[in-house]
Amino acid sequence: MQENNIIISNDELIEDKYDRLRLIPWWDQDRLKKAKVMVVGAGALGNEIIKDLALLGIGEIYIFDIDKIENTNLTRSVLFRSEDIGKYKAKVAAESAMKINPDVKAKGFVLNVIDDVGLGFFRNCDIVLGGLDNREARLAINRACYKVNKVWIDGAIEALNGIARVFEPGHGACYECTMTTVDWQLINKRKSCALLTKEEMKEGKTPTTPTSSAVIAGIQVQEMLKILHRDRNLPTLIGKGFVFNGLTHDSYIVDYEEKNDCMSHDIYDSIIDQKWKSDEISIAEVLDVIRKDLGENAVIDLDRDIATFGKCNCKNIKKIFKPVHKLKKADLICEKCNETMSFDTIHTIDGSENFVNKTFKELGIPYFHIIAGRLGVNMKYYEFTGDKDKYFVEE
Ligand SMILES: [Zn+2]
Ligand SMILES: [Zn+2]
Repeated sequence: MQENNIIISNDELIEDKYDRLRLIPWWDQDRLKKAKVMVVGAGALGNEIIKDLALLGIGEIYIFDIDKIENTNLTRSVLFRSEDIGKYKAKVAAESAMKINPDVKAKGFVLNVIDDVGLGFFRNCDIVLGGLDNREARLAINRACYKVNKVWIDGAIEALNGIARVFEPGHGACYECTMTTVDWQLINKRKSCALLTKEEMKEGKTPTTPTSSAVIAGIQVQEMLKILHRDRNLPTLIGKGFVFNGLTHDSYIVDYEEKNDCMSHDIYDSIIDQKWKSDEISIAEVLDVIRKDLGENAVIDLDRDIATFGKCNCKNIKKIFKPVHKLKKADLICEKCNETMSFDTIHTIDGSENFVNKTFKELGIPYFHIIAGRLGVNMKYYEFTGDKDKYFVEE
């Protein structure tokens, strides 16, 4: 009898593992459990972000990084071990997150966020966290998040210092609004060399520490928590930056000014879910649907230039079908005479093209993307919702 009593009282003593978190008055663990969070970059910052998300019991964590783990990552990455060297960061980070907390589902993708992640993915996440080391990827995330109306939280570190910023479409400055002339010069310098030689360029290395990444990732994740509890009216960093100087112990808030002529403020209204799979449905079939919606002269507007055919002085013509941004030197070498070819590009499809029987995947559009149909100034947007299972874990 007495033993039974003891057992019962022990049972009562076992607390839910999130109990200390639930003591925060506005905390709703259930929301965190239901949240789908995208993390771009699994370096020093990304590791700290993912660790925090796992500890907090975020339901679904989706991690994007194209790099493999190197020896030098081990001093700044809590999720990696020496036996992981040579493996993909995104994959190992996802595995480690699920080991830290088996309640979470985490999935790693070896995809470049600039070209290879469909907008539908951004649209179907709750929030985006960035742990990136370059402006070009930040700009791409910024534009993607704006189009589908998602908050994104950027972080950056250098030595003992760092900054965390929160951007919400329609609520103050976006990332592009904060960019200075120097930022643009650096991006354009990369882009001007980009077309043919980007593969040969190495990103400049920045000194980073596990300490500054812990501080900044902590701020980023805390901001995410507040934004997931929007209705609690907590102060957030939306449109602002938190600057931390670890050397002098200063920290302060920067208020960014929204720029009216900013090129990133493009919002997609009225996005229509379509069961289309981008490796099955043809361009012609999609154009048919769009014309039924908008009118018979409607066209498809792509959000990127696609290189279609390479043309050589020797009269050779070569199929390319790749976004211009992703072209490499080898794509433009004529296999007949070894010279570099010029090439045609396409941005708008009106049905007269000789490749409308191709799929969007064959055109170089990523899975789960959103494309625009347009008649004059009338626009409608279509999501390849049939591709959803390419990214999301089963529900
Ligand atoms: Zn802007
Ligand atoms: Zn040739």
